[in-house]
Amino acid sequence: MSINNTVKTQEWDQTFQLISWWQKDAIRAAKIMVVGSGALGNEVLKNLALLNVGHILLVDFDTIEYSNLSRSVLFRESDCHSHQLKVEVAAKRIKEINPNVKTKTINGDIIVDVGLGIFSRMDVVIGCLDNRLARLFLNRACHKVGKSWIDGAIENLAGQINVYTPSKSCYECQLTESEKNNIRYRLGCPDVAQRNATAGRIPTTPISASIIGALQAQEALKIVMKNDKFSMAGERFYFEGMNNLFLQYNSVPLKEDCLSHDFYKEIIKMRQLSSFLSIKEAFKLLFEHFESDNAIIELDHELVLEITSKESEQSHAICIPRPHLSEQIMRKYQAKAGEALIITQQIDRIDRGFPHQERSLQEVGIPPLHIISVIANQKRYYVELSGDESYLDFA
Ligand SMILES: [Zn+2]
Repeated sequence: MSINNTVKTQEWDQTFQLISWWQKDAIRAAKIMVVGSGALGNEVLKNLALLNVGHILLVDFDTIEYSNLSRSVLFRESDCHSHQLKVEVAAKRIKEINPNVKTKTINGDIIVDVGLGIFSRMDVVIGCLDNRLARLFLNRACHKVGKSWIDGAIENLAGQINVYTPSKSCYECQLTESEKNNIRYRLGCPDVAQRNATAGRIPTTPISASIIGALQAQEALKIVMKNDKFSMAGERFYFEGMNNLFLQYNSVPLKEDCLSHDFYKEIIKMRQLSSFLSIKEAFKLLFEHFESDNAIIELDHELVLEITSKESEQSHAICIPRPHLSEQIMRKYQAKAGEALIITQQIDRIDRGFPHQERSLQEVGIPPLHIISVIANQKRYYVELSGDESYLDFA
């Protein structure tokens, strides 16, 4: 089996190897995360598979709908009937195109479900998103672990691509005040679907997706092959199809007070620590490691501990990360139909006094392979849940 695969790999990219700067080993070893499996994501994934990229991680929370078919080369009508997951179907189809490609899928939201340690294991991240909030989170996550990401956007017959490389270019630095206000509004929306309210509604054609998706894949190759000289990092590229305009101009200069520039210089890799452990077990390991009888885990998202019916004032103790607190869950706790529910207790850090010690780290909103922020001995440390290493196995 492995002998056959090796032969196939060599045969697959023999024409690419005629290109003088082609580095087949780097491309076979590469790990690329593609966030979003919509119109752009389909094009990027198809290109990466054809290019014989070794490992592709697909992230999306959505299912396939009929409206996706006109712009998604990897999806079929039969996928809509059973509401199949975009990541599952896309991974299957790119393997049909090129069986050499190894994939891993995360059916989840980039904002809450992908650990930072996963970002740090990638060579490059490609954003195929349709909303600014997700782009902002992607930007911050990539900066924290020093990774480049390639943002693509399409609308109508137009599209643009930006390559963001830490200390060179930054998505947050080029946001306007009104764009930031729009993001703040979205951040307040309780669940994934509401936060991503633009999903599927951007008017566009498969042509813009093909053009921008192709450029994203090409820029990703340059990063994988460390071909910095020709990278678009620090430049913005805009394409307008009606008048055939191609514009390339410099990125906005970096701003000193930008919140995205946080970089985790030192990361402690704790092999015993996993997101599947209970809070109690995790604290025990942290106390041992830091030789301290107390430590605080800072959460990335608020954890809601109590909700109350506004009129009847009936309270319910819960333990749900705020991004996962959907309207559906809220409704379950309503004393009477239509009554408003308000959050009456939420926290953004946990310590040994946390009441739900038996809950797992995942249950309080910490995803596998995440790098958590821990305060111990009056200092802040960044600790990776390295026990989750096998979570990122590509197959
Ligand atoms: Zn910035």
